[in-house]
Amino acid sequence: QEEAGSCAGCGVTLQTESQQKPGYIPEAAKSRTPVICQRCFRIKNYNEAATVTIDQNEFLKLLGGIAATDSLVIHIVDLFDFEGSLISGLQRFVGNNPVLLVVNKVDLLPKATNMNRLRNWVQKQAKAQGLRTVDVVLCSAKRNIGFDHVVEALERYRKGRDVYVVGATNVGKSTLINRLIRDYSDLDNELTTSRYPGTTLDEVRIPLDDGKAIIDMPGIVYPHRMTELVPKQVLQAILPEKILKPLVFQLNERQTLFFGSLARFDFVEGERQSFTIYLTDGLKVHRTKLERADELYAEHRGELLAPPSKAELDEMPAWTRHSLRVPRGSSNDVFISGLGWIQVNGTSGALIDIYVAKGVKVLLRDSLI
Ligand code: GDP
Repeated sequence: QEEAGSCAGCGVTLQTESQQKPGYIPEAAKSRTPVICQRCFRIKNYNEAATVTIDQNEFLKLLGGIAATDSLVIHIVDLFDFEGSLISGLQRFVGNNPVLLVVNKVDLLPKATNMNRLRNWVQKQAKAQGLRTVDVVLCSAKRNIGFDHVVEALERYRKGRDVYVVGATNVGKSTLINRLIRDYSDLDNELTTSRYPGTTLDEVRIPLDDGKAIIDMPGIVYPHRMTELVPKQVLQAILPEKILKPLVFQLNERQTLFFGSLARFDFVEGERQSFTIYLTDGLKVHRTKLERADELYAEHRGELLAPPSKAELDEMPAWTRHSLRVPRGSSNDVFISGLGWIQVNGTSGALIDIYVAKGVKVLLRDSLI
């Protein structure tokens, strides 16, 4: 204790091991005064919130505390990983407090996407997950799309209360909070934020003029997301930054697609039809016959089929198979958490096998687009 010391800003025990964990201080910064953790340093000097992550159990304990407050909860989810980043059971933890669902990264969808339809889709999916929301707002925190709607909704539903911001990692929570810190004062005097937000151990409090605060909760780590399972170097390759370029494949049954070496898609059975792939363009798609797939993978994983590299693949869990029966009629997506989705365009049904690292959430859903 004596040696590690604690942060003069938030009181957290300091550590020099992990940048992602609370209390991190670079070795070289231990001599600066006051001695504050990297997060407090960044907030104080750059007005910038940094993400600290914690595991699910710790997070649920924190969430539980919200139920006892009278506040507005903003749940931010990543449109690209909707089912992977939605906090299931959020309702139980936040009690009667209203939840405003902010869906981030809409900039990734093709320009022609129908936003009203998308909103309906989000509302329906959230409801199916047992999440009651006072409203749904679509935005891009990074590209500043729809942010005025976020601020409007925040003002409308806050009603003089604190605001808790919760979300999984990499959904863009920091980007959103930073934008709030920067932009709020210009939009509404009542909601001006202080330049020196106070912090507590697990939460960053950004004071508002009326004595209330926006409280940035740590990002929750869900091991069922591909983004949590890939080594750090691969993360950048699979997090989409630009508008998704859908790839269309006309496939006969018993054909296979590899998405780098991160997933394999087998069209096992069904009439010839087209499939639209929504993935980051950093990932190469390779097509082959199902009969050839095992051999191709054994010979070319981490090389022709990349990313990840061979060494990176060895750090990941082995593949497991998910068999999905796509029903006749409606339009469906095969969703792979953190990686993207494949829209099944035919309406005559299909049998599909997905191979992906064990633990990654794979499911069939109504088409997003
Ligand atoms: P946090 O972990 O939730 O705090 O997420 P960050 O704010 O650090 O963002 C995670 C990643 O998502 C970064 O690579 C951001 O550049 C990216 N990101 C954040 N907001 C958006 C957005 O609106 N659109 C897109 N395409 N990417 C975003």
